[in-house]
Amino acid sequence: MKLCILGGGLTGLSLAKSLIKKGLSVDIFLSKKNLDINKSRTIGISNYNLIYFNKEILDIKKLLWDIKKIEIYSDNLRNEKILNFENNNKTLFAIIRNYQLQSKLFTSLKKEKLCKLKNNFNYKLTDLKKYKLIINCENNNYFSKKFFARSLKKKYDSFAYTTILKHKKIKNDSASQIFTKNGPLAFLPLSELETSVVYSIKGKKNINLIELIKKYNTKYSITNFGTSNFFELKSSNLRTYYHKNILAFGDLLHRLHPLAGQGFNMTIRDIRDLSKLIEFKLKNGLELDNSICEEFQNKTRHKNYLFSSGIDFVYEFFNLESKMDNNILSKSVRLIGRNKFLNRSFKNIANKGFEI
Ligand SMILES: Cc1cc2nc3c(=O)[nH]c(=O)nc-3n(C[C@H](O)[C@H](O)[C@H](O)COP(=O)(O)OP(=O)(O)OC[C@H]3O[C@@H](n4cnc5c(N)ncnc54)[C@H](O)[C@@H]3O)c2cc1C
Repeated sequence: MKLCILGGGLTGLSLAKSLIKKGLSVDIFLSKKNLDINKSRTIGISNYNLIYFNKEILDIKKLLWDIKKIEIYSDNLRNEKILNFENNNKTLFAIIRNYQLQSKLFTSLKKEKLCKLKNNFNYKLTDLKKYKLIINCENNNYFSKKFFARSLKKKYDSFAYTTILKHKKIKNDSASQIFTKNGPLAFLPLSELETSVVYSIKGKKNINLIELIKKYNTKYSITNFGTSNFFELKSSNLRTYYHKNILAFGDLLHRLHPLAGQGFNMTIRDIRDLSKLIEFKLKNGLELDNSICEEFQNKTRHKNYLFSSGIDFVYEFFNLESKMDNNILSKSVRLIGRNKFLNRSFKNIANKGFEI
């Protein structure tokens, strides 16, 4: 049985590997942008998702940098810590460079007999007629525009700036995020000598990223600021996950503000859910056809929507405080974070989503 995947980004390639592991053949239609990878981007993957990824998708252990502590600060409380997450020195999540993950997935797929990577960038509906199930992991192709344009969209009027800092050697296993008046600023360790930065800044100002990073950095002796990139931040949640036998997937289903580093984590959880449905069909000798699209939607849409709304709530919460003249909200978060049960619950949701 041959399946079709549209898009060779992190989503398309990861999904393809997981399907091939089940003995399925996969044709992947790449797009030009899949070959142009931004090197200043990193991605944080939760521990729960990493265990799954390493086992069911691809072993990426060698590319990961473990994070054992997360610290959250607020500008409104003069950079005082408001939340702290750790778990007896165990890994909470790990950071990987997007381009390394993508190229490892590519290299591994090129060796797979069950996989065909197609560089036909101008494919049409007629080219896809032979497939019973098509999974669209591409945000901007013909199919996304024609069949998957109806989503709940939001523009944050913000831009995400990303760069990688080089600094003097430091024990670097603690990630931090500061809710500044401009927006959330995250420091995400990559090694003892490098840390990735994601700064989501409200409005498109002529900002001086280096000066802003210097203003909030209290930890690193920076020796070099890498090339920075920026892009507009939006969120979206697709209303209907499929059209006939085409299932939308990845960021096309749910795109989030990066403040909690959860976009790709949601996709890994979706891969897990889709995999379970596929395994059930295979075990019972059933066809992998359009029926799986509806089953997948029923299984995931409500929890994905709830999760995305939660991330948006966090954004709006701190956004509201940055407009207020007091720090009552940060103080209440600090109080909530000290409650052991709630602290554990936040950690669990960030790690597993709404898995039980
Ligand atoms: C700055 C930033 C940091 C991120 N950090 C994490 C993380 O630590 N952990 C995690 O699980 N996920 C994170 N994500 C989400 C993750 O990057 C995407 O889910 C993933 O790259 C989708 O890959 P793709 O190859 O399937 O999609 P493609 O179709 O190849 O690409 C989708 C593009 O949209 C960009 N994008 C994603 N979200 C947004 C958004 N809200 N607004 C505008 N553009 C967006 C992606 O970066 C990517 O370039 C982050 C996203 C951004 C923008």
